Amino acid sequence: MVNEFRIKQEICETGRRVYERGFVAANDGNISYRIGENQVLCSPTLVSKGFMKPDDICLVDMTGRQLAGRRKRTSEVLLHLEIYKRAPEIKAVVHCHPPHATAFSVAGEEIPTCVLPEFEVFLGPVPTATYETPGAQGFADTVTPHIGRSKIVVLKNHGTVAWADTLERALWWTEILDAYCRILLIAKQVGRVERLPTPKVQELLDLKNRFGITDDPRSLQSADLCVNTEWGRGFAQPDCGCGLPAAAQASAASGEVPADGDEIERIVQAITDRIMAAMR
Ligand SMILES: [Zn+2]
Repeated sequence: MVNEFRIKQEICETGRRVYERGFVAANDGNISYRIGENQVLCSPTLVSKGFMKPDDICLVDMTGRQLAGRRKRTSEVLLHLEIYKRAPEIKAVVHCHPPHATAFSVAGEEIPTCVLPEFEVFLGPVPTATYETPGAQGFADTVTPHIGRSKIVVLKNHGTVAWADTLERALWWTEILDAYCRILLIAKQVGRVERLPTPKVQELLDLKNRFGITDDPRSLQSADLCVNTEWGRGFAQPDCGCGLPAAAQASAASGEVPADGDEIERIVQAITDRIMAAMR
């Protein structure tokens, strides 16, 4: 027998953690838990997920019709219901907008793999769902191809949605993904992103199999071991010996414009110095 009040408390606690981690702003995000065949508890719309009380939590049926609750249910409940319909073993869904993971989809980059061991073992390749306007069934349908093949998906130009048998685990997948993306972005600023050697990635996949984690597509088919191996290339250029700062060499090689104003100033100065030297 499900303790409904206890689950409502857990939804509030998950909301508080999602908010404190900066995975949602203002009233963003939504959280749900399936308590019965045709009953799902979910967060309300237009309420900060950081400050929900058990009394704020809504009850809906599997069509999204509200059965109970003083507040209006989340407008993105169809996304949650789609996951529950496709995978009856799933009990909890967390949707939020973690900035580092979301940034990859905004930039049109798949999340690279083969960099950190824990990420490979607990998550592995994380797919990106195609973009659709949030709220309607068409939006919910964008995750359908990924249910059963992943436990977290990046929603293109939007955020993430994670699912599990408990709220705690759905939150873990979100935290692991965003922490990983944050390290990738910092690493790219420090220098280049170095990948794990292929045999060592294979060792991690073997370890994963031994742990009984069987949802990694790489262990089921002859899929590529590493995703988005091109990412980070701009910072891995060899020294051209032309006297420009390393980041300027990378920018010139990739055709990118460096974002930092000081860096632009240094590049202009380096070029000016060289022209002046040549004129002398
Ligand atoms: Zn959203």
